[in-house]
Amino acid sequence: MSSTAGQVIRCKAAVAWEAGKPLVVEEVELAPPQAMEVRLKILFTSLCHTDVYFWEAKGQTPLFPRIFGHEAGGIVESVGEGVTDLKPGDHVLPVFTGECGDCRHCKSEESNMCDLLRINTDRGVMLNDGKTRFSINGQPIYHFVGTSTFSEYTVVHVGCVAKINPAAPLDKVCVLSCGISTGLGATLNVAKPTKGSTVAIFGLGAVGLAAAEGARIAGASRIIGVDLNSKRFEEAKNFGCTEFVNPKDHDKPVQEVLAEMTNGGVDRSVECTGSINAMISAFECVHDGWGVAVLVGVPNKDDAFKTHPMNLLNERTLKGTFFGNYKPRSDLPSVVEKYMNKELELEKFITHEVPFSEINTAFEYMLRGEGLRCIIRMDA
Ligand code: NAD
Ligand code: ZN
Repeated sequence: MSSTAGQVIRCKAAVAWEAGKPLVVEEVELAPPQAMEVRLKILFTSLCHTDVYFWEAKGQTPLFPRIFGHEAGGIVESVGEGVTDLKPGDHVLPVFTGECGDCRHCKSEESNMCDLLRINTDRGVMLNDGKTRFSINGQPIYHFVGTSTFSEYTVVHVGCVAKINPAAPLDKVCVLSCGISTGLGATLNVAKPTKGSTVAIFGLGAVGLAAAEGARIAGASRIIGVDLNSKRFEEAKNFGCTEFVNPKDHDKPVQEVLAEMTNGGVDRSVECTGSINAMISAFECVHDGWGVAVLVGVPNKDDAFKTHPMNLLNERTLKGTFFGNYKPRSDLPSVVEKYMNKELELEKFITHEVPFSEINTAFEYMLRGEGLRCIIRMDA
């Protein structure tokens, strides 16, 4: 047991006091983990769009003060009552969605949508007692998606913690706790392209490039990147993209352009934009008879998907996925192994690094659309 087990820890955390205002790094108090919870020392965290989206709080119920952050790597400091499969010193990735192991979803081989621990962006408290573990002078500071990794220490439900190979460098594999696994899994677990097939990737941000990386790993021979921003194309070559289409360069729908390029349609498509138009194009561009389209992007509140039912009758399949269909605890360790075996490259996703004291710079990079992932070093 560590010397801090069972005690309140005082540590630095980046607190979001108000929507859209720079985070403030300050000392917080963190209570010990309760039943089925673990306390983690976070070593590296990175910034994902979901953090920025909820920090801006446009279009959802704002919940402040809050500690954001959900892509991270760390070490178990102490465990609460009932935790048997993790111990202090274990290397872990916290995940914004969980795996309780007992519900119908966790027992199904097909689903990763755990009833108990699936993502909940509105909840700012822990499940065990409906309270926060973070506070400043007695004032509760809310959690974010059960992870709150913009802190030197955090408390997480054990079902949201993947134990990984201790030899894996946490400053690299931390990016697997959200976006990269989402894109990779969307291709490898859901679209499942066969060797030699043609895959279209809509949206070449971090998630789409991870989806392209999945297509490369699966042995697709043509990987067509589709993005409205032509600046993305050069970078996408490093992720296996062989061809590019900017819908703005054409005066017909992009699905028609793709059908012409591929003799009737692509074998698989993966949509990683969040744009409803791209979702419809991604579906309509797959070949009849066998084509499969997978939606990953999160749409706007009032969006509706519209296509002629004939497109489905003609034997096209439309699917959607959440966190790349990976079950966090069961499956993430093997994704880390893919990196360790050099099957999967992560370095190319990491374009920036800042010390914790400069966490707001990571927000600026993302708001400017600069780079892919910025690693925040907690010890600096
Ligand atoms: P990003 O903003 O970095 O990249 C999106 C890209 O899509 C941009 O390059 C943009 O130019 C492009 N784009 C936008 N509209 C387009 C259109 N109509 N046609 C072609 N390209 C278009 O975002 P990201 O971090 O890579 O995330 C991508 C999406 O995945 C987001 O919607 C995000 O919310 C979602 N996401 C989903 C899950 C899940 O589990 N389903 C998990 C994480 C992220
Ligand atoms: Zn479950």
